Amino acid sequence: AVLAASGLGQLGEVWGEISQAAGATERIAELLDEQPQVAEPAHPIALSEPPQGAVRFNDVGFAYPGRPDLPALRGVSFEVRPGERVAIVGPSGAGKSTLFQLLLRFYDPVSGSVEIDGVDIARASPRAVRARLALVPQDVAIFAASIRENIRLGRPDATDEEVEEAGRLARADEFVARLPEGWETSVGERGITLSGGQRQRLAIARAILRRAPILLLDEATSALDAESETLVQQALDRSMQGRTTLVIAHRLATVLSADRILVMDGGHVVEEGTHASLVAQGGLYARLAALQFGETNGG
Ligand code: ATP
Repeated sequence: AVLAASGLGQLGEVWGEISQAAGATERIAELLDEQPQVAEPAHPIALSEPPQGAVRFNDVGFAYPGRPDLPALRGVSFEVRPGERVAIVGPSGAGKSTLFQLLLRFYDPVSGSVEIDGVDIARASPRAVRARLALVPQDVAIFAASIRENIRLGRPDATDEEVEEAGRLARADEFVARLPEGWETSVGERGITLSGGQRQRLAIARAILRRAPILLLDEATSALDAESETLVQQALDRSMQGRTTLVIAHRLATVLSADRILVMDGGHVVEEGTHASLVAQGGLYARLAALQFGETNGG
């Protein structure tokens, strides 16, 4: 499934309110941090300091509350080392975005555990967990506010200079410079409409500004023009620097540059390796790669 918007919290339910709250960054951030699904533990434990960015799934089983008889994850175990880039691939419904939902603590596992830096996140406050994560969703939410305020959603207390620096790193500065009021230009419902590539670069700027040790990318499936493609790729490369990255991958370049690929099917991790080793195995990945990337012998 396409992960809801902002990277900060559950967005679906509060979308209408947020649109009306345009401009008030703090209010927006507050709404985004709402957490309907999971309860704050009575005595939350702190995550490890300093943050390293290690992720671990221990024999995780999970079914969505509305579908208790249909497990979305079954016995999922894997480990991601600090700074590692892991691509996740698999057919529709395999459980890829569910991994992100559990990491973001929108839900807790039914069995097993999810750890960040060795701490079971079900025992920590959802807010503390989400502070360790930045999400670049497939469908980027743009709010009816200025470009500056849209980027600032990544970290509401960031200074204007920090916001602009994140925009530059995310290769957004060139298109922003061409807008009538630069960083102050209104976008979204009340202002100009941004292209897909521009929206993605704003989302990457938000993620960079967030300074979280773990980056979750739900790669867009929609095609961008060649120039946007290059700029978005450069922005993503920069956002991944020094961070642990988990990416739901749809592009060949992404799986080729990953340190490791996890292949999911039916709620299981069924294969694991590099593009070349998985293609050589001739299993599910090899078939998916042939379909999705139109080639089977890259890497
Ligand atoms: P896609 O590539 O289509 O996005 P995915 O690999 O990300 O698929 P998930 O979205 O993680 O797959 O879905 C795993 C399973 O959980 C599927 O059977 C799906 O129908 C189900 N599912 C996903 N989201 C929900 C939800 N909010 N409520 C109930 N079931 C859900």
